[in-house]
Amino acid sequence: MRRPLVAGNWKMHGTIASVSELIKGLRLLALPGGVDVAVMPPCLYITQAIAGLAGKNVAVGAQDCAVEPMQGALTGEIAASQLADAGCRYVLVGHSERRQLLGESDGVISRKFAAAQSCGLIPLLCVGETREQYEAGETLAVVMRQIGAVIEALGVGAFAKAVIAYEPVWAIGTGLTATPEQAQQVHGAIRALLAAENAAVAEGVRILYGGSVKAASAAELFGMPDIDGGLIGGASLNADEFGAICRAA
Ligand code: 13P
Repeated sequence: MRRPLVAGNWKMHGTIASVSELIKGLRLLALPGGVDVAVMPPCLYITQAIAGLAGKNVAVGAQDCAVEPMQGALTGEIAASQLADAGCRYVLVGHSERRQLLGESDGVISRKFAAAQSCGLIPLLCVGETREQYEAGETLAVVMRQIGAVIEALGVGAFAKAVIAYEPVWAIGTGLTATPEQAQQVHGAIRALLAAENAAVAEGVRILYGGSVKAASAAELFGMPDIDGGLIGGASLNADEFGAICRAA
């Protein structure tokens, strides 16, 4: 049985004051015992979140890491080793906002994935198709290419200690959610792709859904056999709503 994971991606939101309020709200939540919960603040607030959530069963992760795993001369970047040193457990790699707006390639994303794992962090690989690709019927081809690039670079075994998040770009921040059936079809195909190479890895890997997940839509999505939790954007900025989503997992 895969243990569900609900992760809140705060994106580029927050101030010291608002993060403090959000942490207070998270501390008050009654969280289910059988679910892993994590939040990913902007890097600036990671240490604040780790200190503020001490003793609460909410892990902290980062939204990105450098391609180089260890600290060094790379202005503006943060190394996976530094995230691990700060107490992070997870790191997102390949979020569509970075793929699209910052031009991150599958090659760069594979290197970040490897950097994270080499420092003991769990990479959360984000994949998903754009609206144009969706309308052209290319969803599975796109997602398979994105995951295939990591398999090619690192081998399927790399997914034994990783998480996949399927986030259709057209569903992110738009209020449009893939139907549970649509999402399940993609999640099932991802698991089948991995199973063709390694059945145990495919069975164990958690595949999260992301894209406008709200408390009202979470239970139906999480009820699907291959949806193992969610990657939550906007709704994770409200502690009560995020708590309700965690309880739906
Ligand atoms: P929203 O939940 O705001 O649509 O964002 C999803 C997302 O991109 C999480 O990484």
